Parts: sequence; structure tokens; C-alpha cells
Amino acid sequence: MRRKLIAGNWKMNGSLSGNQALLNGIKEEIGQANCDVAVCVPAPYLAQCRDSLSATLIGWGGQDLSVHESGAYTGEVSASMLRDFGAKYVIVGHSERRSYHGESDDAVAAKTARALRSGLVPIVCVGELLSEREAGQTAAVVGRQLDAVMAVLSADDLANIVIAYEPVWAIGTGKTATPDMAQEVHALLRKRLAAKSPAAAEKVQILYGGSMKPDNAADLLRMADIDGGLIGGAALKASDFLAIIRAAS
Ligand code: 13P
Repeated sequence: MRRKLIAGNWKMNGSLSGNQALLNGIKEEIGQANCDVAVCVPAPYLAQCRDSLSATLIGWGGQDLSVHESGAYTGEVSASMLRDFGAKYVIVGHSERRSYHGESDDAVAAKTARALRSGLVPIVCVGELLSEREAGQTAAVVGRQLDAVMAVLSADDLANIVIAYEPVWAIGTGKTATPDMAQEVHALLRKRLAAKSPAAAEKVQILYGGSMKPDNAADLLRMADIDGGLIGGAALKASDFLAIIRAAS
């Protein structure tokens, strides 16, 4: 049985005082969550997470990393910098990075490899646009996105990633994939992993992301191949995030 992971993606939201209230709210009420929990925060707030979460079971992570190790790359944040602040996770290839920052499948693959080399757990995002779903291309698109990542990883490394299926049309829209729609894609992704490594397919957590909320989380998380959630909007409110954690526990 895979352990579930509920990860918040704060995106470009937050302030020192607001974050503190949110983190305190989560810490005070989380109790004995029977799932993995993490928050992926803007890089300037990693130190705040380290200070606030070190004595808890809640992990933290970045939302992107540079493909380079170090050097003249103004504005970039490296994997080792994330590690310096105790980050466990890093989101890679979020659709907002792919669409607003032109990240290609190959760049996402290279970042995934870079994260693993530094001891970070990459949360690799895949997902189709609405137009692609309507054209019946969902399987082809997510398959292509995952293949690019698998092409640069050994079977052993593959077992150490997390995948997030985030249909782009469901992100921030309040439109969620139905549990059956999501399960179909998750099963397909796991089958693709199995073709390279049955052990990795068994182990890798495949999260669902896209308008996961307290009122739909339990139904999604009940599906056989949905191993958690990557939560945007609902991760910014302690009571919502906690409700999703409870649904996964
Ligand atoms: P929402 O939960 O706000 O739809 O965002 C999902 C997401 O993009 C998480 O990475």
C-alpha cells in the first residue's frame, strides 16, 4: 500500500506574517496525520518553513529549480540552495512553468535529474490542455511528458520521483476531473512506469492536482492509483488543507 502525500503548492502567494498564521494553523490541528504532508513555497520563504516546520512531520519544498548546478544564471535557484534550507521536495514542470516560461519536456526532464542528483524528491507535473483533452490526445500528451523524464532516469532513480497529474483545465478553475477520469490517467501513467520498472510503478506516488478541495478530496483519494494531491488554492487556508489531509489519512 502506497502512503498518500498531500502537498500544498502556494504558487506566488504569501507574506511572512500570513505564512506564519497558515503554518501555525496547520501545525496546531494536524495531529497524527496518517499521510505524508508538505508545502511547496516561494524560495524566499524556505527559511521560514525550516524554522517553523523542522520539529514537525511536515516537509517543505521549492516550486522550481535551475537546470544548472551553479554559475551566472541571474534569478535562478539551484537544487543545492533548496537543500541548504532543508527542502525535501521540489515541484518540476508545473503547467504554469511550461506555459508561461516555455519549459520544454526536455528541460523538465533535465531538472528532474538535477533534483534527484541533489537528494531532492522531484514532484513532476504532467497534464493536458482542454483542447488536447477535447481532441482525444490526453494519453498521448501525458505519455510524451512522462517518457521525456523516464528517458533520462535509471530504473532506480525513477522509483524516487513523485508524479502529479494536473489537467490544465482543472487548475484554479473549480472544475475537477471526476474520480474516474483521473483514475484512468493515473492508471495509464503507472502502466507506463511499469514498462520501464515494475518496482518503480509499484512505489511511485501519483498525485492528482486541479481544484482538489475538501468536498471532492475523499472521492478522488479513494481511487486505486490516486496517491495524494497537489493542492493550490485550498492549501492557502489551514482549515481546507487540514480537511484534505484528513481525507487522505
Ligand atoms: P488549484 O488547486 O488551485 O486548482 O491548483 C492546482 C495546482 O496547480 C497545484 O499545483
